[in-house]
Amino acid sequence: HSSNLQGYAPICLGLEDFYIRRLYLRIQDCFGRPISSSPGAWFDVVERHSNDNNKTLKRTTKVTRCLNLGSYNYLGFAAADEYCTPRVIETLKRFSPSTCSPRVDGGTTILHNELEVCVANFVGKPAAIVFGMGYVTNSAILPVLIGKGGLIISDSLNHNSIVNGARGSGATVRVFQHNTPSHLEEVLRQQIAEGQPRTHRPWKKIIVIVEGIYSMEGELCKLPEIVAICKKYKAYVYLDEAHSIGAVGKTGRGVCELLGVDTADVDIMMGTFTKSFGSCGGYIAGSKELIQYLKYTCPAHLYATSISPPAAQQIISSIKVILGEDGSSRGAQKLARIRENSNFFRSELQKMGFEVLGDNDSPVMPIMLYNPAKIPAFSRECLKQNVAVVTVAFPATPLLLARARICISASHTKEDLLKALEVISQVGDLVGIKYFPAESDKQ
Ligand code: PMP
Repeated sequence: HSSNLQGYAPICLGLEDFYIRRLYLRIQDCFGRPISSSPGAWFDVVERHSNDNNKTLKRTTKVTRCLNLGSYNYLGFAAADEYCTPRVIETLKRFSPSTCSPRVDGGTTILHNELEVCVANFVGKPAAIVFGMGYVTNSAILPVLIGKGGLIISDSLNHNSIVNGARGSGATVRVFQHNTPSHLEEVLRQQIAEGQPRTHRPWKKIIVIVEGIYSMEGELCKLPEIVAICKKYKAYVYLDEAHSIGAVGKTGRGVCELLGVDTADVDIMMGTFTKSFGSCGGYIAGSKELIQYLKYTCPAHLYATSISPPAAQQIISSIKVILGEDGSSRGAQKLARIRENSNFFRSELQKMGFEVLGDNDSPVMPIMLYNPAKIPAFSRECLKQNVAVVTVAFPATPLLLARARICISASHTKEDLLKALEVISQVGDLVGIKYFPAESDKQ
């Protein structure tokens, strides 16, 4: 796993600590500001004055309305919604913000049961279990699924929550080159003799972990190839759909739907509610036996307070909208919009000469800056023109692969996108990050 820079960055110590602190002190003037509104297509960014070592926030009333290119609000449910919001308010009044109990001690409301059925049906699995946090879903589930004597084969760019769960499980962990099925096969071959049945192998079990859309790369998983390899070598497939569920696929059902993979071939489907559904929490969906086992054994189910009822209601309601069960066609429109917006924005950025990572249909769009020293100028200059972008650098990416990570939403209008493109183009010229000739210069 040592090649996994995202998950295995050193806890900042010594010299590294010194340099990272200095880098982030410079960046603090342009991101990490609090917001004072819902994270919709536009949001209110609160001006931060202090930049001292104590990181104190000076109280200020200066609020800037900015075009939001940072939140994972893929379908636009993070802002008030005509169907979801009244139901969430009603739930808040009836159930309160918290259950104040774990699931097994009075913390299971009727909404929790409804949510699990709703999620299982939506993702196309027989059963599901939900947790109060997406991060914990990965980090707490993996140690329950596998342990000593087991083998985890993890994509080199998997999210930190997966890395933490894999480490905590006590299983042997091997990493395959990011989204490279041939390397996955090579690693599997090294680890087992081909053709042996699941029960007669050096490993008690093997789990291959991938993401539907990679959060720092915007890339779609090569799921059909990976599933075929896992079948051949009898390994379980664990798919994290944090960024793909709700965001891609004809009816929003994620990468399986988009890439034509049968959900029966994905053994463990994981996802979060913090992106497309505008809520919080995470889920695991799988066979009835798997979910039953997790309900009996997973400490995060047994000992952690259950997902907040208003958050559960937000998920149920947003899924109903996506499926058209609210009696409108808004869900279908949102899905069409996120795809159109994403593909338009990506191709326009590429035409301008930016290096943009990721695949068509993916709403995650990293614009490469490379040099981390370009981060402060890029995000500050965008912010000056009321465009808020998130920049990502080490340790979330390798040191010299800094990037601005744009997240497109169905709630962005064409005007929003045109404004964003104009600002990003100007700032791109200023900071010098158009690494390719612009389409307009080629003619
Ligand atoms: N998995 C992936 C791939 C993620 O990108 C994230 C966070 N963005 C998580 C899990 C954790 O989810 P949450 O933020 O909902 O806790």
